[in-house]
Amino acid sequence: MNPHRANEKTDELGETTAKYPSQLPPVSDGKNPHVLIAGAGLGGLFLAILLDRAGIPYEIFERMAEVKSLGSVMGLNANILPVFYQLGLEQELDALTLPNTTLQIMYGSMKKVATLHTKNQRDLVGYDYRMFARPKLHEFLLSKVNADKIHLNKKVLSVIQNKDGAMIRCADGTTYHGDIVVGADGAYSAIRQSLYKQLQDRDLLPPSDAKEMNKGYVCLVGTTTSLDPAKFPLVRDERSDGYQVIGDGTPYSWTIFNVPNNCVCYVVVCQYASQAECEDEKFRNSEWGPDRSAAMMKKVKDFKIPHGLTLGDLFDHTPHDKISRIYLEDQLFTTWSSGRTVLIGDAAHKMLPSAGQGAVCALQDAVVLANCLYDLESLSQESIEKAMQDYKEQRYPIVKAQTDQSNINAMILHGQVRAKPNNACYLLLLLLLLLLLLLLLLLLLFLLPSLIIREFSMHLIIVIDHNGEDCALCCSEMAPSECQRQSHCQKRVVPTSDRILALGAKARDW
Ligand SMILES: Cc1cc2nc3c(=O)[nH]c(=O)nc-3n(C[C@H](O)[C@H](O)[C@H](O)COP(=O)(O)OP(=O)(O)OC[C@H]3O[C@@H](n4cnc5c(N)ncnc54)[C@H](O)[C@@H]3O)c2cc1C
Repeated sequence: MNPHRANEKTDELGETTAKYPSQLPPVSDGKNPHVLIAGAGLGGLFLAILLDRAGIPYEIFERMAEVKSLGSVMGLNANILPVFYQLGLEQELDALTLPNTTLQIMYGSMKKVATLHTKNQRDLVGYDYRMFARPKLHEFLLSKVNADKIHLNKKVLSVIQNKDGAMIRCADGTTYHGDIVVGADGAYSAIRQSLYKQLQDRDLLPPSDAKEMNKGYVCLVGTTTSLDPAKFPLVRDERSDGYQVIGDGTPYSWTIFNVPNNCVCYVVVCQYASQAECEDEKFRNSEWGPDRSAAMMKKVKDFKIPHGLTLGDLFDHTPHDKISRIYLEDQLFTTWSSGRTVLIGDAAHKMLPSAGQGAVCALQDAVVLANCLYDLESLSQESIEKAMQDYKEQRYPIVKAQTDQSNINAMILHGQVRAKPNNACYLLLLLLLLLLLLLLLLLLLFLLPSLIIREFSMHLIIVIDHNGEDCALCCSEMAPSECQRQSHCQKRVVPTSDRILALGAKARDW
């Protein structure tokens, strides 16, 4: 029997419900906090590794029955690599990654726009920019956490807390007690939702945190199996080169990087013309998986990538259950903790992947939170709140800067869709068209006749008025003076306009 499991009973509807004690029993040794982590993602697992080193007890609760590693390319650079090296994981990590040397930016036609060189990173900041497939990092972190500490198939639904402790409740009706609850349960964090609801009920939640997350992009991510370098010159084992392609006249842009074992990671991003259009699809971002990928793959399979290849060539070498389509949402929440509950990673700040810093920020959060918990003065509510405050103060300005950078990058790399005209634009367009028509009409009425007159008088005819009557058409292309000299054109030359009028009347008869 798990000592942290609360009393349970089954109600008349057959649902298991937990009795919530009014005073939650502390379960720690009185010195170190017992930490309950919701979510075995990158942030949750990294926190577990760090707490382990700090001698702080913890348990992880993961909703999946088995931890699945999905996703595409990720990069780790000098803003997180020192921690891996400090943990002694340098060599193992290096084996999973390749140092990045270039990022080429190009149009869909494969015309080059610019090349960014990164091979001097080690000289500049002491670390290479290391590229790898996200699933590999996830598997690596998972392998470093004691399996006994991870409770699988535990979907956390809610958190409650008081001055003595905190408790989570899972979908299977079980409850667990601890001193601190960490919501590392991703973008749709149940811990965040539960906490925010309680704060909202007490009128303590800022309105900005009650808003829906921004939606504007959808993306397709995947990693190929090992490719034959003869057919795919993209792959090389000693370094990773990246290509960022901006589609010409399409709302798509796509990124590819080669990673170890001759694999290629790809991300295809489509920008919606408006948030409303994105919301229309009524698809939630919480599940990564192959569903709904097929239609997008069909649309983009012929898009070019270097060496005369297409995205379709990469899809053909990826197990389709490893290709995920996902809506990219973003939101920087401002409430990161309350009482004994704290949020890390995507649960606190879901950012666009365009700066490649979403996962790095989750890992950095884990580092700073682990340090704050290590420095905890006591297990009192005040001490814990102070530690949480310290954590947020250290992290928020950095996360804010990364969020802004991601948004700017997204506009540059994926922002090629122009806003659709609204009704006012259509009205303006109509007015412009009418104006143009009016101008054309005026042209026809005034300019054209004078052009015709000039044409006629210059090249064709001169009409002679003979004793007040129209009498003859003179020779073409003759000056009026010459015309008068013709034997059959004895009379005076009429003014130009009269000539034309006369021509109009007589020409038909001739
Ligand atoms: C599948 C996937 C692929 C990604 N691919 C890339 C990529 O290629 N490149 C890139 O830059 N970024 C990628 N990202 C984004 C980046 O990895 C995230 O920013 C980073 O993973 C955030 O870490 P996290 O720990 O906060 O959340 P996550 O890594 O999302 O982990 C959250 C964990 O919580 C679990 N969970 C959710 N709800 C509950 C619940 N109620 N109870 C218990 N457990 C729960 C989830 O199953 C998951 O294991 C990807 C994210 C995901 C989820």
